[in-house]
Formats: sequence, C-alpha cells, structure tokens
Amino acid sequence: MKKVKNELLIKNGRVIDPANGIDEVMDVLIIDGVVEKVGKIDQTAEIVIDATGKIVTPGLIDIHTHFREPGDEEVETIASGSMAAVAGGFTSVVTMPNTDPPIQDETSVEYIHRKARVARKTHVYVMGAITKDRAGKELAEMGLMARAGAVGFTDDGNGIQDAAVMSMALKYSTMTGLVVAPHCQDDSFGSSGVMNSGYNSTVLGLPGTDVLAEEMMLWRDIQLLKRTKAKYHVQHISTKGSVKIIKEAKEDGLAVSCEVTPHHLLLTDDSICDYDTNYKVNPPLRTNEDIEALRQAIADGLVDALVTDHAPHLQSAKDLEFLAAPFGIDSIECALPLYVKALIDSKVIGWPKMIAMMTCRPAGIIGIDKGTLGVGKQGDVTIIDPDAKWKVDTAKFYSKSRNCPYQGWDVKTKVSYTIVGGEIRYQNKD
Ligand SMILES: [Zn+2]
Ligand SMILES: [Zn+2]
Repeated sequence: MKKVKNELLIKNGRVIDPANGIDEVMDVLIIDGVVEKVGKIDQTAEIVIDATGKIVTPGLIDIHTHFREPGDEEVETIASGSMAAVAGGFTSVVTMPNTDPPIQDETSVEYIHRKARVARKTHVYVMGAITKDRAGKELAEMGLMARAGAVGFTDDGNGIQDAAVMSMALKYSTMTGLVVAPHCQDDSFGSSGVMNSGYNSTVLGLPGTDVLAEEMMLWRDIQLLKRTKAKYHVQHISTKGSVKIIKEAKEDGLAVSCEVTPHHLLLTDDSICDYDTNYKVNPPLRTNEDIEALRQAIADGLVDALVTDHAPHLQSAKDLEFLAAPFGIDSIECALPLYVKALIDSKVIGWPKMIAMMTCRPAGIIGIDKGTLGVGKQGDVTIIDPDAKWKVDTAKFYSKSRNCPYQGWDVKTKVSYTIVGGEIRYQNKD
C-alpha cells in the first residue's frame, strides 16, 4: 500500500478557480503535492489551514519578471527573487533574458532552472532571447532553448527594429510552438527617451518617448502576424492606441495576447515632477487618458495577463541623475494589492476576472499546465486575506533591491500563504 507522505487541507475559504468556473466557499485537499479534491471535505489531514474569510486561488503566475542572475547578483538572484515572488503570492514566474550574459542558449536556460530548484520557493520559467545578444540582428538558438524548456522568446528591454528579423522570428517560433513576446519600441521615435513625451517632458526638459514608439511596432508586428500562425504576446502595453490595435487584431481572429503592469494602471508622468528615478520605467508612465483606456480594456476582457515587470535595481544606480538612472520598478511583493486598488476597489472588475488574468490566462500564453485547482493538477495555491490593511515598507522586502515608488502606500489585501506543490513555501506571520 502506498504510504501517504503529505496531506494539506484548506478549509472554508472562498475558492476562486476561474478555469473551472468556481467561486464559492469550499475546502481544498492536496495529497502528495497534487489536488485531490475540491468541495465539502469531512476528513482531516496532517496539516489543516483555516481559510475562513480568505480567498483561495490557484497559485498566482507572473509571466514577466527580472531576477538579474546571471551577472547582477548584487541586485537580485534567482534565490532572492524566488523568495520575493512567494511573498507576493506567486507560485510561478517567468524570468526575462536580459541578464549578463543574456539567456540565449540551452546552458543558460538550464542554469536558471537549476538555481530555481535549489532555491525551492516558486517555480521559475525562462524566456530566451529572440536575437543573439538581444541585438536585433540575428536569431538566437530558439529551437535549442525550446528543447531545454524555455517557455517563450523576448528581447525585453529592446524592440526588434528590423521587420525582416521579426518576421523570421515569428516564422521560426512556429516550429517550437512557443510564444514570441516582444517589448515594442521603435527607436526612431525616441531611443533616448526617459519619460513619456508630452507636456511634462517639455516642462521638465527631459527627452520623451512618443506613444508611437510602442504603437508603430505593435502595428507592424500585427501585420507580420497575418502571414504566420505564430503565437504573439505583446509585453506591457501602456497606451490608448495600443489598446485599439489589440482590439482590432483580436477581432480579426489573430493569435495575439497582451499584458499590463500595475504601474501603468496607477501612475502617470505627473509623478516625475520632482525627478524621482523610482518612477523611471520603460515603457514610461503615461497619462490619465491611457490609464482609463487600459482599465476599460481590462473590463472588456481584452487584456490577458496581469504581470509585475518586477525590475530591481541598486540604490546607487537609481541615485544617478534622471537621464542616467536605469529603468524599472521593484514590485513583485506588492503587485497583488496594487491590482486590487487599480481594478477591484475602482470597480473595474471583480475577483474572478482578476484571478483569471493572474492564473489560467497567463498559463495559457506560455503553455504550462497550471493556473487551475482541477483534480490531479499540481497543488499550487495562494491564500489571500482580501481585507488586511498594511503599509508598503521596502525595508521588509525579500527582494535585494528597494526601487519602489509605492513605499509608504496604504494598501489592502495581503498574501497569507503561498503553497507550491502542496508545500507551504511562504506564510505571513504579521
Ligand atoms: Zn520591457
Ligand atoms: Zn521587463
């Protein structure tokens, strides 16, 4: 007889499992790391968690994060990023390849996987570079990276300027079945931009990035996509015009998906008025009109994934003058309450739709069998206290970096437990 090694029972939580259309108070039983039963469960178990008043969801999935390893281990490592991820409720993340050296071959994909197994916190998936050295000229070894377990391709941080190269990447990706997930930025519209191009950039005397830099490349890619059967996912859309392009592409039946970040739903370029580099991010913070368009796109179901674009940087780098400081916001530990603020408290959508964009929908984009509490699936679960109020305090971050513009914000909703493969990997003890 098989000996039961590990039993975990989560009692009386509001189970929200959008993939299975579930939203009701139930129990979840995980045995040996696998979901055994969801419903009214009378038996007891080795470990029992009382989730009364809490929300129980499939483990959250963030398909856009930067863990800086290899190359910048003083900023973040797979281990520190993994710990920060579970503290933020994420049981699976996808790291970007803009490391030093970039993730662009089998060995580097395997390196990240190995480090993640040792860290033993969240599942870490990898996107490989589309082009060699992310230079936009020559395709990287996409086939070999796919074989090593990469879940998609991106040159995140850089747009692919050459349309022929992008066309080739889309065609080649169909042989792997994986998604191509570009950062859309046409450098002819502002490669030197450090903020949104508009009234504020003029007043501050800083070079701006035009909304067209994003929209032109996105539009170009959509035209290319009409010629292939590739899977295309545009990263961090930030403008009203991008929403319109996505809407039309989806109406045309193209295999296109998109993501947004918390900062593009909560912050505008007005924040930069005192040159605080914690607001320097790429694509840049835009305007209220863009925020409204993105929120409406979410309400209309046009946005597929909510991501963090967690981008840690050293304080010494962010202390440089605005022009020289790097782009990026450290946010994985507070992204969930930020989304609650932007979407639920603002009555854009309710919990089930939001959870879908943080579980089953991103899982579908990268093609992993996760994001659901279906029987037989891996026991990845996030237990959330929706009413817990707290103050963002970067001193308590597990991330190695502190470049977070939300420092001191009063937020609501806290992660209580993060469970990966039936194991409690994070428990809030406040
Ligand atoms: Zn990017
Ligand atoms: Zn990024």
